[in-house]
Amino acid sequence: MFDRRKFLHSSLLGSLGTLLGVKSFAAGEPPRLTTGQPVVISTWDDGLEANKAAWEILSRQGRALDAVEAGVRVTEASQNCCVGLGANPDRDGFVTLDASIMDESFNCGSVAFLERIKHPISVARRVMEKTPHVMLVGSGAQQFAIAEGFPLEPLELSEDAKRNYQQWLKTSEYKPVINIENRHPNGPSAPARLENGQWNHDTIGMVAMDAAGNLSGSCTTSGMGFKMRGRLGDSPIIGAGLFVDNEIGAVTATGQGEDVIRICGSHTVVELMRQGLSPAAACRRAVERIVKIKGEKAASIQVAFLALNKKGEVGAYAIQKGFSYALKNGKEEKLYRSESYFS
Ligand code: ASP
Repeated sequence: MFDRRKFLHSSLLGSLGTLLGVKSFAAGEPPRLTTGQPVVISTWDDGLEANKAAWEILSRQGRALDAVEAGVRVTEASQNCCVGLGANPDRDGFVTLDASIMDESFNCGSVAFLERIKHPISVARRVMEKTPHVMLVGSGAQQFAIAEGFPLEPLELSEDAKRNYQQWLKTSEYKPVINIENRHPNGPSAPARLENGQWNHDTIGMVAMDAAGNLSGSCTTSGMGFKMRGRLGDSPIIGAGLFVDNEIGAVTATGQGEDVIRICGSHTVVELMRQGLSPAAACRRAVERIVKIKGEKAASIQVAFLALNKKGEVGAYAIQKGFSYALKNGKEEKLYRSESYFS
């Protein structure tokens, strides 16, 4: 049974921890809900803030699609974060953004290599709703965004990104190291940035179920810091960084996008759930597939999947430890630490 005192106690501890800059993680798997009880989950610690905005909508019987858009807009707007226009640029000094969104009826939209637009997720939604296409990229995506009334933002990098880019230019070494929090010299609770100035994660993926039992998902990213100009990862690719099948479940991915694309990651996890696996087991199976493909190289990459099934069960699995996800429903608001292949 739901213990209100325990919940208040852990929420208070969680809030205190957040105020002090210390992360607190809930143990074990999140409680299972039933269809019709709204829930939102999202990748990494930034998910906590994003979930609040999504919950505003879900708790008022709103649509999961609106919730996942509103949620990740919070992260896109945060200037000192790893997502959105404040994030690290590509190797030529330009921030290029990718995003995708998918609803309960296989409607989907995405944008990639989009510059100077603050909310790529909302442009992705317009692509889904207002064009006969699924994906727009580069200057075409920007042109569409402007025509839809999205303001063109200044080209300038955020203070953090400027500093990181200057630091990176000293060596200009293209060595993508992402999402490997446990490799940070100060351990998993250290700020989400590596010594060489790279953020160690660059994405927020969010999936939700609304009161009607419908699923939707969103994913938005600046991609890898200092990537080659024109590089796309998994996040804007439907089936890789995001997939929703309203009969089965909704999945999002984070980590080295190239390796998520290789196995059509999020779609694969949905198909594994269709075969009867729990969300956690399905995420694990997909991660194991990547580890097998990569062989020894698996030790130096991070990929994580986060899944929600139609029954309201939640699960995640990552290659490296350090992957966290945030959950919010009518009973709890928590950060969970995912299990991982390497411990
Ligand atoms: N998956 C993203 C990409 O490869 C990066 C991330 O999740 O941090 O672009």
